[in-house]
Amino acid sequence: MAVSSVRCKVESKMERFISPGKGNGLRALSEIKPGQLIYSSEPIAFCVAEKFLKSTCQTCLCRGESLLRCSQCKSSRYCSVQCQKEAWPEHKRECKCLQHVYPRVPTDSVRLTARIIFTLLSDPAADSQELYSITEHQSHLEEMSEEKREGLVQLCSMLKLYLDSDVSQLPSGLDPMSLLARVMCNCFSVSDGELQDVGLGLYPSMSLLNHDCRPNCVMMFVRKKLKLRAVRRIQPFEELCISYTDILSPCVERRTQLMDQFHFLCQCQRCSDDQSDCTMLGGEESRWTIIRDSLPHLETLRHGEKWVELQQACQALIGAHSAAVPDSNVFMLRVLDSLMDSCITLSQYETALQYGTRTLTAYLLHYPDPHPSHAVELLRVAKLQHYSGDVEQAERTFTRAYDVMKVTHGSDHPLVTEVCRKLAECQAERR
Ligand SMILES: [Zn+2]
Ligand SMILES: [Zn+2]
Ligand SMILES: [Zn+2]
Repeated sequence: MAVSSVRCKVESKMERFISPGKGNGLRALSEIKPGQLIYSSEPIAFCVAEKFLKSTCQTCLCRGESLLRCSQCKSSRYCSVQCQKEAWPEHKRECKCLQHVYPRVPTDSVRLTARIIFTLLSDPAADSQELYSITEHQSHLEEMSEEKREGLVQLCSMLKLYLDSDVSQLPSGLDPMSLLARVMCNCFSVSDGELQDVGLGLYPSMSLLNHDCRPNCVMMFVRKKLKLRAVRRIQPFEELCISYTDILSPCVERRTQLMDQFHFLCQCQRCSDDQSDCTMLGGEESRWTIIRDSLPHLETLRHGEKWVELQQACQALIGAHSAAVPDSNVFMLRVLDSLMDSCITLSQYETALQYGTRTLTAYLLHYPDPHPSHAVELLRVAKLQHYSGDVEQAERTFTRAYDVMKVTHGSDHPLVTEVCRKLAECQAERR
């Protein structure tokens, strides 16, 4: 069994073990209550997602339009001189590589892999405190399809080109292709409190966590720091699981995505239960298949920020099918969510509230355990209610959001502080 750690205060709640049928895993050492912090860690390496490079501080991840720019690579941004100074030891080598390929910026996985290489070169024992070392991480190279391999080969040549100016030798025992594959299988999307993915990070011990479509743990981030919390009561020696995929999708979608990305067929209890899709796929099948098949088009409109077209397309679908497909149908729910987003972006708050309210009953049904997505949806609707002047209703919804978030986010999370402030505002306004 692996090393005990100096950060054991929190880690002592869990240990590495062999999970029957799954291989390596993590399990609880004692009973854990919902909302309890199980593990907390900074990443071994991190990179800001390409999409957010221009608008995000590399150090504290705060957002802004006029950030300071690294004068050498012209790519990295910072909110203050302090943040820039703090980043320099990690950025130094990367900065040369960025200059070398300028004006191109390699993809996220390439930049993250390079950062891992730099970390290991300057400190070969960087992951020695972890329960799972990078050399133990699985690459799944053998199970990969020809097409995926081809993509990996291209990323690998990009990585070599990127590193060329600095690193002539990789850390011992690591070839770039398998390191890239390991990073892609094991890194985590780092999201902000509102679940926007702002970067990628590697937290080696957390790669031991297996998947379940009804997980007993969730991960949230405060800046780059990962926090693993229980969302249900966990018994001693019970396995700790997170969900690798969106749990608000029917079984076949979840299984396809898990097979495609993580190379296993999910056999969890939820996937084995024939009835579990009933509420998610409610209504007339011939109708919801039309909605389902329209979703890629809605995604394209959203991606292109064509909000008026998105709004019209959503309204047309809802108008045509809501008599035959209930709001709780997951595909209908995605349309309602997209419509709410487009209304908010177009400043049509009353209409946004109307559709947001319709989503809440469905969210309650599909999230039996506290879940960050549920919390964020409640928060969005509560803000709309507050804006519309319905202070009493807003207070109730903020309270519901708070109840979920104190479990999923933890009471010290900045977003929970914001909810508390909103609640206080509501209370003051009612007096
Ligand atoms: Zn900053
Ligand atoms: Zn730079
Ligand atoms: Zn499953």
